[in-house]
Amino acid sequence: MIWKRASASQGKAFLRCQSRWHWEKIGGFRGEETGAMRLGKRVHALLELYLRGERLPQDKEALAIALPGMKYLPKPKSFLGAVEDRIYSTTLGCVPILGFVDLYYWQGDCLVIVDHKSTGNLQYALAPSEISRDFQAMIYACWASLRWPDERITFRLVYYTSRPPYRSRVSEYAFSDTDIEAAKTYIRQTLDRMLLASITDIASVPYNLAACHDYKSAENPMGCPHRERCAELGRQTMGAASSFFQLGKLLEGKSC
Ligand code: SF4
Repeated sequence: MIWKRASASQGKAFLRCQSRWHWEKIGGFRGEETGAMRLGKRVHALLELYLRGERLPQDKEALAIALPGMKYLPKPKSFLGAVEDRIYSTTLGCVPILGFVDLYYWQGDCLVIVDHKSTGNLQYALAPSEISRDFQAMIYACWASLRWPDERITFRLVYYTSRPPYRSRVSEYAFSDTDIEAAKTYIRQTLDRMLLASITDIASVPYNLAACHDYKSAENPMGCPHRERCAELGRQTMGAASSFFQLGKLLEGKSC
């Protein structure tokens, strides 16, 4: 598959494990949607309707999750800004960047960009200093600075726990002009690296064994869905069984 466009989530995936991004975006091996992802989408959908001042769905679980975080959001229809607005930039790197921002609005003379995050545990919430180095925050802040060059920009993460007791936490960072310039350089360099990786054979793409267990759960005991594929390339992603996968692939090749 030819790589034609980037997104904040693609960049984050690439920076965590280049091979995982390659398997999915270049190889076309998409991971299955998990229950946590589906629940996160329901919470997002409910919050979108709430901010638009529209009737909420009869989704008690999504409502229970979203309620504690609503105090960190502007009152519905009372703000100057937009909900679920499309991001599109052709000037931040070698390919266009696409995405959707959950909410942005003006608070005094500051533009606040909000992203909703469902999480199993608030301990995963980013600290303000970590937001300045977060690829998604960088992309949204740079996109906003190109669109509204005179505005001060704050990126706000509103976290919602996805299981009882339902709680919420906010973490935010105000980007300075220096931060924005540094972010633009980092985004451009990262997209250049992604372009290079996109035309590299998967066997030669760097990988990160520390990422193999990301998002592991009872529903998703494997963590990364590409562990067997990586093991077939001789990587130790299946523990002691890894060499069997590589041997199996070699024998398969010989029998063809
Ligand atoms: S199995 Fe591990 S090394 Fe392979 S793509 Fe997934 S996270 Fe990366």
